[in-house]
Amino acid sequence: MTKIQETTLEVDLSAITHNLNFLRTKIKSSTKLLAVVKAYAYGSDVQQVALHLQHLNVDYFAVAYTDEGIALRKAGITKPILVLHPLPIHFAEIITYKLEPSLYSFQVLKLFLKASENEKGYPVHLKFNTGLNRLGFASEDVSEILKHFSSNKNVQIASLFSHLGASEDLNEKEFTLQQIHTFKNVAEQFLNTLDYQPMLHILNTSGILNYADVAQFDMVRSGIGLYGFGNDPQYNTHFKPVVSLKSVISQIHEIRPNESIGYNKGHVATTAMKTATIPLGHADGIGRQYGKGKGFLTVNGKRCPIVGNVCMDMLMIDVTGVDCQEGDEVTVFGKNPTASEFAKTAGTISYELITAISQRVRRKVVS
Ligand SMILES: *Cc1c(COP(=O)(O)O)cnc(C)c1O
Repeated sequence: MTKIQETTLEVDLSAITHNLNFLRTKIKSSTKLLAVVKAYAYGSDVQQVALHLQHLNVDYFAVAYTDEGIALRKAGITKPILVLHPLPIHFAEIITYKLEPSLYSFQVLKLFLKASENEKGYPVHLKFNTGLNRLGFASEDVSEILKHFSSNKNVQIASLFSHLGASEDLNEKEFTLQQIHTFKNVAEQFLNTLDYQPMLHILNTSGILNYADVAQFDMVRSGIGLYGFGNDPQYNTHFKPVVSLKSVISQIHEIRPNESIGYNKGHVATTAMKTATIPLGHADGIGRQYGKGKGFLTVNGKRCPIVGNVCMDMLMIDVTGVDCQEGDEVTVFGKNPTASEFAKTAGTISYELITAISQRVRRKVVS
């Protein structure tokens, strides 16, 4: 492999294949799989990752916002794309690009019915709130919703879905089973009334791992699992992290006792020390919460704590006693430590860390 000479986010497509195959072992072969590629495919490389997933024959894609769906269409994604959180101002574009909206409130439903007046059987997805209290119709809304569909042939309900709030937490099993129960009730009312059968889906990655036996329905939705995280140490060996963040040492400084390092004297040396400056800062997605000794970078196999405050474009690490030179490669996260382990140093989670790696960081796809 060629040597890293700048801050680089490596995106390993073969790891995506591996993770998808592992997830598929958890579900029946007849169950459809939706790949969640919102937020630039969880901060990786949305274009390359989505094309790879399309090649691997996933059934559906999902994004959060309309612009993300348009970008997928422009990149050559021809599979159905569910937009999880469309806003009414984008409904015309939704239709132009053949994106499929999640309808989550009466306001949104009415506006989409208006926008789709000239369509026939346009696929829409109805989202139900079963306990997360974030987005979705209430279970009591069913009969009122059905009134809108009984006479309308412009749209067709492609799926009914809901989202679990604690699928990774087995202490909350009762809560999750209650969500599933509520969803089943909602679905039954539709299936008893409509003369066609919408798909049903509720499981995200942790749902697939923990509830595939009771709530698989017609489709499952995976995001974080495809990118290599199972939200549970017992799955670490089954998933392969897709993204690795690497950088280089720009400069090494010998620091004398009582000298300070970085803005606002973020660290004051008590003894002589050696620091390395890395071209990576909070504008790249490594926030200030990783500073002052919380996060660490790995240099030639040694863990080197971040010293002082993380700057916008740089951070400094303590390389005292570490054999290293300007130009050497450093690892932020990847296989060891994983993004999940790195995120934990600042009290956050893999989802937040990997989706925050900004577009300024060069992506390098490997396979
Ligand atoms: C983001 C999202 C997912 C993906 O969840 P993971 O835990 O990453 O698998 C699934 N469904 C909905 C509604 C989401 O917003």
